[in-house]
Amino acid sequence: MEKTTQLYEGKAKKVYATADPNLVIVSYKDDATAFDGTKKGTIRGKGAVNNRMSNFLMGKLAAAGIPTHFVEELNDRETVVKKVEIVPLEVIIRNVSAGSFAKRYGVEEGIVFDEPTFEFSYKNDDLHDPLLNTSHALALHLATRQEIDTIRAMALKVNEVLRAFFAECGVRLIDFKLEFGRLADGTIVLADEISPDTCRFWDARTGEKLDKDRFRRDLGSVEEAYEEMMRRVFGAR
Ligand code: ADP
Ligand code: UDP
Repeated sequence: MEKTTQLYEGKAKKVYATADPNLVIVSYKDDATAFDGTKKGTIRGKGAVNNRMSNFLMGKLAAAGIPTHFVEELNDRETVVKKVEIVPLEVIIRNVSAGSFAKRYGVEEGIVFDEPTFEFSYKNDDLHDPLLNTSHALALHLATRQEIDTIRAMALKVNEVLRAFFAECGVRLIDFKLEFGRLADGTIVLADEISPDTCRFWDARTGEKLDKDRFRRDLGSVEEAYEEMMRRVFGAR
């Protein structure tokens, strides 16, 4: 499978067409951004970590019955995925308060919720990804009610599978963002990536942050945290 034309360059990945109209190749970059793209940098080796970790986790999720876009890992940075029409919602599940939740509601980070929370933002850079609710998403025709129900159920299932897996790795899954897409026949599948860029991971023993917050908050040892997550995930296989 070979790349033909570049279809898109995002902040963290490039997307290429292939000879098969139903498949695209995603290429993961080391570029990192935060705070709506205002903070920019490079995390050496991140592209390879995110590609390999995301593919591995999607495999686990597929085994648990969750349909994903994953097709084939080509090399350290590149993967063939099913081409989808991305549902323009950033789906966020939280197990513990952190980040924008703590800020928005004026609470400290680290509060363990009785049950996971589900929210989504409108994936729209020009509008800075505003938070919205189901009726707003329906009013804007971003997804149908049935699609939103499917997405919610899949996201909560993803949380159960990943939370249990990361616990085996000595890591607490604090929160994460998912994206879903529609295949040509309308089937909803999990797309995009699952990685230290899109999840918060805290060491179960020490509470040390092992994710992109090290970059966002200038905590140092950013590359080391991504490498440590690789060891945890692939060591636990
Ligand atoms: P951003 O667009 O937020 O800068 P990335 O740099 O990660 O993000 O770019 C990857 C783009 O590819 C995102 O817009 C994402 O929604 C999209 N994408 C992810 N998976 C697929 C897929 N299977 N088919 C088509 N597009 C996808
Ligand atoms: N997240 C993401 N992309 C975004 C926004 C959030 O991957 O555009 C992830 C983020 O890494 C965290 C979770 O979603 O794991 C919740 O993020 P939050 O809403 O707290 O926002 P942030 O603090 O990142 O601004």
